[in-house]
Amino acid sequence: MPFYTFVCNSCGKKFEVRCTIAEKDSGSVVCPGCGANELDRIFEGFSVIMGNSGCESKCPAKTGGCPSQSGGCGGCCGR
Ligand SMILES: [Zn+2]
Repeated sequence: MPFYTFVCNSCGKKFEVRCTIAEKDSGSVVCPGCGANELDRIFEGFSVIMGNSGCESKCPAKTGGCPSQSGGCGGCCGR
C-alpha cells in the first residue's frame, strides 16, 4: 500500500498514513492527533509550501524520494 501524507484541517498536524485509496476516499483515515477526518492530502512538492517541522529541511532529497533510514532526516520527512 502506498503512503499518503495528510494535514489535519482541525489541528494542523501533518502525518503519513499507509492506506488504500478506497480508505482515503471513504473518510476512514483520521488524524492521529485529534481524530478528525477533515484532512487535506499533501502531494509531494506541496509539503514545502505547507510548512514543516524542520525535518524536511534536513532531508537530502529535496525532490524525489527520501532515502529514509539511510538519509540525514531519518525518513521523518515522509518523502
Ligand atoms: Zn488533527
